[in-house]
This record gives sequence, structure tokens and C-alpha cells, in this order.
Amino acid sequence: MTREVVWDHGVSLPGHRIWLDPLVVRNFAFISHAHTDHARRHKEALLTPQTLALIPEARRPRGWRMLGYRETMRRGEGTVTLYSAGHMLGSAQLHFEHEGASLLYTGDIKLRQPGGVTTFVPKADVLIVESTYGRPHFRFGDPDSTVEAIARWCRRALDSRVTPVLLCHALGKTEEIMLALAPYGFEFALEKRCAPCARDYALAGRSLPDWVELDGGPVTGRVVIAPPVGKDEIRRLGRYRTALVSGWAKDAEFARLFGADATFDLSDHCDFDELMEVVERSGADQVYTVHGYTEDFARYLRKRGVRAWALELNEQLALAL
Ligand SMILES: [Zn+2]
Repeated sequence: MTREVVWDHGVSLPGHRIWLDPLVVRNFAFISHAHTDHARRHKEALLTPQTLALIPEARRPRGWRMLGYRETMRRGEGTVTLYSAGHMLGSAQLHFEHEGASLLYTGDIKLRQPGGVTTFVPKADVLIVESTYGRPHFRFGDPDSTVEAIARWCRRALDSRVTPVLLCHALGKTEEIMLALAPYGFEFALEKRCAPCARDYALAGRSLPDWVELDGGPVTGRVVIAPPVGKDEIRRLGRYRTALVSGWAKDAEFARLFGADATFDLSDHCDFDELMEVVERSGADQVYTVHGYTEDFARYLRKRGVRAWALELNEQLALAL
């Protein structure tokens, strides 16, 4: 059997005929979550039922094998188990075991959850971890305190008859922030790109607090949510104030690009310390980084004595499982 991992437009376990979030169409591929950069029309995809429900029709795989969290399936001579990745509804980590050796692929992952809960990271010999925020200046505040600060900011704006506008990614972030703010009693108005995602989220099993679609009419008393780019509809709101809700809030240059009045470092990805914690919790002695600051994060890991490499695009890399 082949005991290697290969990078070729995505991670592959070639001896086991499985691709992890490949960027091109494959026969059998694991789709870790529904963000469009991961969804392709594969012949057959392994995914959670929620991920399938959230993938837009045009990007759906042609066939699928659904697996819930902590459910196991055979793949050739190995076993696959999915675990929640805490990144968005349906997001999953894939754990692969074969002849006593194991590999964990995190996909996009978030460790710190609201209410002080931490995403479970299973043990593995080899870890393939995302490194979106793999530089040490990405250190985010406690999520619960940040949500509280966002709620205070929205309330202050509404009290002074100004519309608070939260700039959030349409799928996942928008819905999670609505849920996080629900206990504060806000009502929402969603920009047209966020609205279909909110509908799909509800259909996939997570019901959301009251919202209407932004239609050019007045939205008095509501918190508006819109994607960070393309603010045409927002400019029609009259008096408004914007806040970027993203891990990129920690990057002054990037935050400036969006020209928001305020920034909140609430992210659905791990910050630098959380990424370190994922590596530690996995217990892996071999680590590969994908997405974002792959080289930097691998270098920081090596400084701490972990054998780590970046899995780069265009690089064919074989390694022992
Ligand atoms: Zn994602």
C-alpha cells in the first residue's frame, strides 16, 4: 500500500483514492465545508448533511456520501471519521486511520467557541492544518467578550438613530453573528448576498433570529449585515456606521482597505495561538500547513521543535504516513 500524502491542487492520500478539498474535479473527494473555494462538482463527495445543504446547486457534487460527526466509514483498507471543525455549520475535520497510523486534516477550523467551549481535536501521527492566520500578530480577543462589545456598539448606534452595519462574510459568519447577537434582542436586515445564505442556513437546520432583506426601504431599528466588499446598498441607508467583523481586523493595512468605522476581531478561523494549540492537541509529530501563511507558520512550528513543512501549490510532495 502507498503511505504518502501528495499535494496537487489539493491534498491527496493516493494509496486510498481520496482527495481532501481538491480545487479540481475528482472521483472521490472530501469537502470539509460549504465555502465556495472548497466545493467542486466531484463525481462523489464525502461531506456532512449540513455541508451538502449549504452548497449552492451549481457547485454540488454529482454524487455524495454523507457522514455525521463521529461516524466512521471504511475507505479501502482504512477508516475515515469526521469531527466538527467549529468553523461553520457542517464544517468537519477528517481523521484517517490505516494499519495503526493516523492522519488528521483540519479543513478550516475554529477552536474557541462561544460559551468557553473548545472544538475537539482528535489525536493523529500526521497533521495537515490550515494556517490562514499563521502569523503571531493574529491574536484575537475572547469571542464572548467580543460579541458583547459588538452588541454594545450596535445598541449605541441604534440609540442615536444611526444604522449599525456589520461587514461579514455572507455564508457562515453572517448567520453565526446573528445567532450570537440573538440574546441581545436585535432584529436584522440582510444585504441581498447574505439573504440566500441565511435561508439555506435555516433550511440546513439552524433557525435564525428575525430578519428581512434589505430592499432600499427604511430599516429603522435593525442591525444591517452585508459582505465587506461592494457597499452600494449600504450607501443608500442614510445615517449609518460600519464595523468589519473579521480576523483581518488585526491587520491594520487590510482593515484600512475596507474603510470601516470600527473593527472587531471575531473570526471563524483559529488565531495564531489557537493554531499552535491544534498542533499540540493533535499530538502529531509531523505537520503540514495549507492556506494562508503556510511558510511562516511552518517556520514558527519548527522553532518550537515540531517537524513542519508548508504544502505549497505546484509542489508535489510525498511523505511517509
Ligand atoms: Zn471556510
